[in-house]
Amino acid sequence: MNIRIGNGYDVHALAEGLPLWLGGVRVESPIGCIAHSDGDVAIHALCDALLGALALGDIGKHFPDTSDEFAGIDSKILLERVCSLVRAEGWEIGNADITIAMQRPKLAPYIIPMRECLASVMGIEVSDVSVKATTTEKLGFVGRGEGCEVYAVVLLNRQTNI
Ligand code: MG
Repeated sequence: MNIRIGNGYDVHALAEGLPLWLGGVRVESPIGCIAHSDGDVAIHALCDALLGALALGDIGKHFPDTSDEFAGIDSKILLERVCSLVRAEGWEIGNADITIAMQRPKLAPYIIPMRECLASVMGIEVSDVSVKATTTEKLGFVGRGEGCEVYAVVLLNRQTNI
């Protein structure tokens, strides 16, 4: 097989007064994710998609939340490490598509900065990184503003030695 697909999913609970990091970008918000790391739920889902594509387990296996090393860590560092692992295994990242479900704040102004940031960390083109945001029409835990939920899909291509 010369291509592999992976999907990732993550949820974090939200609380008042915490910083909100999404897709590597600090979002202006009165609420942020409760987390052991910086709580970048979008990067966590993306890491799980990358690891899932190669059946390498999940982010919790590689970066345990019981470890002090990862307390408050910038999730971009985790993403960088996962991308290095993917390349070391002989794969290139084709594209990524991320959907963030959050009731508030409005994420539209942050979509392009997130795409640019993630592309730069992953070492791929901005046109190969899609970030989409949706509310859940006030339904469920996302709609009540209790949590933020992210789905990510990635495609990997086997490295070719030309
Ligand atoms: Mg997480």
